[in-house]
Amino acid sequence: MTPRTESQRWHERAQLSIPGGVSSPVRAFSAVGGTPMYMKRGVGSRVIDIDDNSYVDCIGSWGPMIMGHAHPEVVQRVGEVAADSSSFGAPHQHEVQLAEEIIRRVAPVERVRFVSSGTEAVMTALRIARAATGRNLIVKFAGCYHGHMDSLLVQAGSGVATLAMANSPGVPPGHVEDTIVVAYNDAEALRQVFDAHGENIAAVITESAAANMGVVPPTTEFSDAVFTLAQEHGALVILDEVMTGFRVSPAGWWGLVDGPAGRVPDLVTFGKVIGGGFPLAAVGGRRDVMELLAPTGPVYQAGTLSGNPVASIAGLTTLQLCQPDVYNHLDSFAHQLGEVVSEALSAEGVAHRLQRAGNLFSVFFTPDEVHNFADAKAQDTEAFARFFHSLLDNGVSIPPSAFEAWFISAAHDQDDLQIVADALVPAAKAAAGASRGS
Ligand code: PLP
Repeated sequence: MTPRTESQRWHERAQLSIPGGVSSPVRAFSAVGGTPMYMKRGVGSRVIDIDDNSYVDCIGSWGPMIMGHAHPEVVQRVGEVAADSSSFGAPHQHEVQLAEEIIRRVAPVERVRFVSSGTEAVMTALRIARAATGRNLIVKFAGCYHGHMDSLLVQAGSGVATLAMANSPGVPPGHVEDTIVVAYNDAEALRQVFDAHGENIAAVITESAAANMGVVPPTTEFSDAVFTLAQEHGALVILDEVMTGFRVSPAGWWGLVDGPAGRVPDLVTFGKVIGGGFPLAAVGGRRDVMELLAPTGPVYQAGTLSGNPVASIAGLTTLQLCQPDVYNHLDSFAHQLGEVVSEALSAEGVAHRLQRAGNLFSVFFTPDEVHNFADAKAQDTEAFARFFHSLLDNGVSIPPSAFEAWFISAAHDQDDLQIVADALVPAAKAAAGASRGS
């Protein structure tokens, strides 16, 4: 590993023109300290920084790069489409084919509207839900992230739900007073909220499996409560599959767990994988609800670059490549990777929990099972920071936060696994040192 002097130089320069030097906060390494790498290339499972260090990439652009970096077919089709113009602001075939592919995979989705980010998809879903029900209240769960729109940037409530407060300056109190925050995996708290406010609740929004507080899968009791309580009270269910969609199965978490259990969302939000590394996301759902959108209905929603042809072909090609063999590989590789992580930490006596939702997983530096945000926050984040830096210095890049999932790709192979296994030896020792306070 060469010293990251070029990254350091660029990061100093970046901070003179971009707040914190980054276009999205978690990239700044604030939670773990140090300087982020400036990337110049990605090939399959590896990324290379501007100091020419190569890393096994377990971030995958936070989800989109499910086929690995610069997949030849994606690159080729993107090039062909871009050569015919990167944007028309008019309909084209690729967005239709992408919508058809999504509908084919996720049965509750009958219509799709494309946008440019997951945040926008969720914002649109909330607007549709409010228009469909004529109600204002939205229920969300503490520790779930749905993008950075005002109304969902609210503090975690604990225990029984409380009407939420804004947790970011710049969010007017009025923008969050229609948001109720409930502890994740707390079916009883959700029941109490519906008892108290049921007739005013437009929708419950949930990450289909929480992965933005680290990976915390929903219990069956909790998932059942989300769907049945919403239905009993005439509220919609918005399943946020921005992270899990088309990653944990050909039809996301819905295809893996909710669909087989007979749970039917009214609206589903997608992002990440469906853009294949380009800015593209979507909201989909039942026809009658989706056709409330203009021009078929009165709910206004629009976007200059929505359904952009280059992003659409990148997403379509990626989805077409995501066949059963890819999911088998992701499942088996994630299983092996999780095992080596856990074994290395156990060998050093580091208290930890490895939690999975399909092929997504994360490691909590805590001895106890994590059911919700409060549990997740109880972990030893300093141990994580040491673990993170040691892995990085030995050629393995994982998300620079203890509250994020690891993302792997179809390109990860046994060589990558060996590099990670070797890097885990010092990383587990570093974590142990931190947790012993040395
Ligand atoms: N919903 C979930 C579950 C997410 O994980 C994210 C981003 O990580 C979003 C929504 C927001 O998506 P975007 O960052 O594209 O705005």
